[in-house]
Amino acid sequence: MAPSKVLAGARVVLPTGIVTDGSVVVQGTRIAAVSPGGSGDPAASASPAPPDREGPRLPGGVQANAEIIDVRGHWLVPGFVDLHNHGGGGASFSGTAEDILTAVRTHRLHGTTTLVASTVTDDMDFLVRQAGLLSELAEQGEIAGIHFEGPFISPCRKGAHSEELLRDPDPAEVRKLIDAARGRARMVTLAAELPGGIDSVRLLAEHGVIAAIGHTDATYEQTVQAIDAGATVATHLFNAMPPLGHRAPGPITALLEDERVTVELIDDGTHLHAAALRLAFHHAGASRVAFITDAMDAAGIGDGRYMLGPLEVEVADGVARLVQGGSIAGSTLTLDRAFRRAVTVDRLPVEDVVAAVSANPARLLGVYDRVGSLEPGKDADLVLLDEEFALKGVMRRGAWVVDPQLG
Ligand SMILES: [Zn+2]
Repeated sequence: MAPSKVLAGARVVLPTGIVTDGSVVVQGTRIAAVSPGGSGDPAASASPAPPDREGPRLPGGVQANAEIIDVRGHWLVPGFVDLHNHGGGGASFSGTAEDILTAVRTHRLHGTTTLVASTVTDDMDFLVRQAGLLSELAEQGEIAGIHFEGPFISPCRKGAHSEELLRDPDPAEVRKLIDAARGRARMVTLAAELPGGIDSVRLLAEHGVIAAIGHTDATYEQTVQAIDAGATVATHLFNAMPPLGHRAPGPITALLEDERVTVELIDDGTHLHAAALRLAFHHAGASRVAFITDAMDAAGIGDGRYMLGPLEVEVADGVARLVQGGSIAGSTLTLDRAFRRAVTVDRLPVEDVVAAVSANPARLLGVYDRVGSLEPGKDADLVLLDEEFALKGVMRRGAWVVDPQLG
């Protein structure tokens, strides 16, 4: 048996809480043990670092030839799971197989070990072809499935989607996309108030594909109807939907108040005011929030001219906007930055941020038995952060994607 790796002495965020001076034992591609096991101490994050000793505390039963990696002074959290992501590293999920891998690898360098590839509105023939290509990469384990954002969205809230390519959500066409994805369609964002919308939500739910409400002009009542028909996700809550009014509470209120719905939030400091983010987080509760990037090609690269599907985008100071009209066009966010911002700027508890960036999206995708938390038997997908929550290492399936930078 190959020697195991023991990451020892960290503050480890477990589903039960935070443990200090904890260890994660990795054997092959899996987590073999986590210690101390049992109940975590939710107050541990506030307690001082353990006193210095010769080395970190090691769990029992560690192999004599195990590689011990002393990560005292660091955090160990589960690898991040991104539900909504269009690209990065100068490449997009609307591109070639090589482009798709470039984008996937860019986000892995930032801690995203499980990623759902999102398309944007395009013509149906293109989307059907792209679904075929993306499904191959899903079969190879590179992506966790496909999210179709558009074309079944509202022209009133189109954001960075081509208006002339939008269409009503005809269930037969929705079905065509799901079939093209060969079992790898995970989510479709649609405006359920459009003709055929409710029937399309039902069809998606029946096929085990998440119906996500977004780019919508729905009323509160129409949104409630869509949730009752089976919609379970709010696509970037607040963005590309009517604002919350006290006599017209709109989709935001309906999506926030229903226990069956998980709300996506883009925590990049541009898409949402920190107070709006906190409002959603506190109202939905930590188990119903998923942080997403909604990233486009410029993520992991920087400013310049890019394409988002068929539309031209200018990125300046890290903010992506359409050249025509100036709509915000996705983000340049990576989940490590979202994590750090949520803890240090938004002042959310670390364990809640871990839930929003790993466990909740993993549960939604139906892969929580393999990823989304640090537990024995799961894939060894983990992120090492320093005390300021800067990324210092990424492991995916037991192999370092970013070697640990310690000291
Ligand atoms: Zn998007």
